[in-house]
Amino acid sequence: MRNIISIIGSLLIIALAGCKSHTQVDMIFYNATIYSVDSAFSKHAAMAVKDGKIAAVGTTAKIFELYDAPEKIDLQGKTLLPGLYDAHTHFYYYALGLREVDLTGTRSFNEVIQRVQEFSTTSKSLWIKGRGWDQNDWKVKDFPTKDSLDKLFPDRPVLLSRVDGHAALANQKALDLAGITAANKIEGGVFEIITKNGKQTLTGMLIDNAVNEVSKYIPDPSVSERFDALMTAQKNCFEVGLTSVADAGLSKKIVEFLDSLQTSGKLKMKLHLMLSADQDNLKHYLKSGPIIKENLSVRAFKVYADGALGSRGACLLKPYQDKKNEAGFLLSHPDSLRAVAQKIARSPFQMNTHCIGDSANRFILDLYHEVLGNDRHRRWRIEHAQVIDESDFKKFALNKIIPSVQPTHATSDMYWVYDRIGKERTKNAYALKKLIEHAGMIAGGSDFPVEGINPFRGIYAAVTRQDLRRIPAGGFESQNKISREQAIRAFTSWAAYAGFEEKMRGSLEVGKAADFIIIDKDIMNCNEYDIPYIKVLKTFSDGKQVF
Ligand SMILES: [Zn+2]
Repeated sequence: MRNIISIIGSLLIIALAGCKSHTQVDMIFYNATIYSVDSAFSKHAAMAVKDGKIAAVGTTAKIFELYDAPEKIDLQGKTLLPGLYDAHTHFYYYALGLREVDLTGTRSFNEVIQRVQEFSTTSKSLWIKGRGWDQNDWKVKDFPTKDSLDKLFPDRPVLLSRVDGHAALANQKALDLAGITAANKIEGGVFEIITKNGKQTLTGMLIDNAVNEVSKYIPDPSVSERFDALMTAQKNCFEVGLTSVADAGLSKKIVEFLDSLQTSGKLKMKLHLMLSADQDNLKHYLKSGPIIKENLSVRAFKVYADGALGSRGACLLKPYQDKKNEAGFLLSHPDSLRAVAQKIARSPFQMNTHCIGDSANRFILDLYHEVLGNDRHRRWRIEHAQVIDESDFKKFALNKIIPSVQPTHATSDMYWVYDRIGKERTKNAYALKKLIEHAGMIAGGSDFPVEGINPFRGIYAAVTRQDLRRIPAGGFESQNKISREQAIRAFTSWAAYAGFEEKMRGSLEVGKAADFIIIDKDIMNCNEYDIPYIKVLKTFSDGKQVF
C-alpha cells in the first residue's frame, strides 16, 4: 500500500513538473512553520524564492501547484523567520573591539588586571585597549584608579572603557601621550582628580567627553586589520540570525569604508548608518544629501543628549537617588542642540538622539516637536528612551517619534537601577510596553558591544524581563513585558520601518528581500526559557546562504 501511494505520489510530481503553468523559482522551502511578520503576523508552510527576493508564501500544496525549483528544501516542521534586524548597534566598533581585551563580566578590578596582563602578551600593538568593565558588578563599587596599571605598564599606554563607553580608565603613559594633566578641564566631561599628599593628581578615570581626549591619540588600525575584523563581526552576526544592523554614530571616513566594502560585495551585512552629528559631517552631508542604496543607507544623524545612568551622566529632572547633589547634565548646550535639530529638520535626514535620563528625553521630545511642527512622517527617533517622566509618554505620538530601545539594558541594569533613580522613576524606565502604547512601535536593538550580539537574548528579555538565571521571579517591572509577537516585530519589521526599509525587508512578503533564518525551535510556542538558547541553523541574505 505504501509503495503504491509513493508511486502515485511520484507520478503526480512528474505530472506536475511537466505542467507548463509552473513558474520557475530558485528555491522552495516547504513543511515549515513560517512567521512572515506581515501586518497580520500570518503563518505559512511554504515559501518560494527567486532572484534573491520572496516570490511567494502559502501552503505547501499551493506553492507546489504554482512553482517549481531546482532546490526544494523540506524543513520538516522547522521554524523560519525574517532575518533579524538590530536597530541600534556599534557594528564597526564591535568589529574593532574584537581586537581588544574583553572585560565584560569581570567580577573585580583584579580580574580586569589579570585579563589585561594576559592580553598584553599576545597583542602586538603598542596601545592596549580594553572594554566592558562595570564597577557595579564588583564588591568594591567605586571607580578604579590607574595605580596598578602604572606599575605593570609604565611604557605602554592603556585605555580601558567602561561597559557603556561613557567612562574609561587610562594609565599614566596614555595620559602623558595625550598631554593631560590635573589642570585640564573639559565641557561635558570630567578628568577625575584626587588630592594626594596635598597635591591634586589624576586618578586616570575619564568621564564622557574626557574619554575622547585620550582615545583620539590611539592610532587607527590598518585597512587590512579593519577588513579582517569586519569579516569576523559579520560572521558572528550571521551565526545569531542578524542580516541587518543600524550602526549608530560614524565618521565620513568609516561610512565610505563600509560603503566601499559593500559595493565590492565583500560585506553582505545590510546597514543603516547613522552619522555622528559633528560639524564636519553636518557640513558635508547636509549639502551632499542622503545616500540610499539597496543594502546601505546614510540618511540619519546620531546626536547625543546625555550620558549613561551607570556613570551618573544621564540627565535627570531630579537628583540621583544615591547622589543627592547630582542630576547629570546635557552633553551640549541646549542652544547648540536646537541649532542642530533645526538644520536636520530642514534637510531630508532623520535625527536619532541618544536620551537616557527623563530630563534629556523631555528636552529632546519637546525640541523635536518645536522644529517639526505637525510633521508626522519624519520617523525621528529617540535612542534608548530609557527613563521617561509619566507626563512625557504622550509626546511620542505628536510627531510619531520612534523609541529605539534595548530590552537587554533593562535586565542588565535592574540590579542597581533602583539605587540610582528610586522606585517611582524605575516604573517608567525601559518601559517597552508603555512606549508601544504611545508610539505604536519600538525598534529593537542591543547596543552591541555594550550588550551581547544575540538578538534572541533581547527577545527573551523583552518577553520575560528576567535574566538568564530567571531573576527576578515574575520579571523586573513586569508591567512592561511585551508579547512574543511584539518582540519579534521589534527586531524585524519595526526595526526596518525605523530605518525607512520596510518596503525592502523586515518581513517575508512578495517582492521583499529573501533575508531569512531557519531556527531550531518554534519561537512563538516554545517554553519562554528556551528563547535565549534558540539556535540559528541557517541564515540567508538576498536568497543566498551566508551561514
Ligand atoms: Zn549606542
